[in-house]
Amino acid sequence: MGLKEQIDELKKTLPSGVTLVAVSKTHPEEKIMEAYEAGVRIFGESRPQELKSKYESLPKDIRWHMIGHLQTNKVKYIAPFVELIHSVDSAKLLDAINKEGWKNGRIIDVLLEIHVAEEDSKSGWNYGELLDYITSGNHKVLANIRIRGLMGIATFTEDQEQIRREFTQLNDIFLSLKKNFGKDFDTLSMGMTSDWKIAVECGSNMVRIGSLIFGSR
Ligand SMILES: *Cc1c(COP(=O)(O)O)cnc(C)c1O
Repeated sequence: MGLKEQIDELKKTLPSGVTLVAVSKTHPEEKIMEAYEAGVRIFGESRPQELKSKYESLPKDIRWHMIGHLQTNKVKYIAPFVELIHSVDSAKLLDAINKEGWKNGRIIDVLLEIHVAEEDSKSGWNYGELLDYITSGNHKVLANIRIRGLMGIATFTEDQEQIRREFTQLNDIFLSLKKNFGKDFDTLSMGMTSDWKIAVECGSNMVRIGSLIFGSR
């Protein structure tokens, strides 16, 4: 299937209410423009400098999401324009984003990345750590941040039931944290090329799909 056909197919298959983030990391601008012409407006990138340079040369109605691990000293590259940062994995990073939001006169939307996979290599908060942080109330003073929900990555495995367990766990955490954050807490980002169907069945309302659209990296 060509890129446009793949996008049309995805749009047909994704339930309404599930937002598609086309993950364009490492792919050239011409490829992004092909997806843009096919109607995609939300793109996800994982490196701040690459994100910034694509933002500068591509159409201004593109909504850019940061999905990869973010270092505090790189927040400045994306703070002026980023629509959503999916991968916030520490209190320190929340503080840094808040500060850059303030400098840019913006409130920046973020998701908290939760570690649900069995691999240690994947980043994110442990649920216990996150509860401690929320209990501390420190996030409430971050006026230039809005916590919109959670993001997670399942274990890279053929075991569909394990993936389902991890996504279900993430959805449970999402539902139980809603009471702490209120109505703006509405986004659950989970699911990629290999597991987005399971993710949607488990409550995802935002999928991050790269290779299915753009081919392998
Ligand atoms: C690369 C990446 C994706 C997309 O992965 P595909 O398997 O190509 O769909 C999704 N989420 C994150 C966090 C990524 O780094």
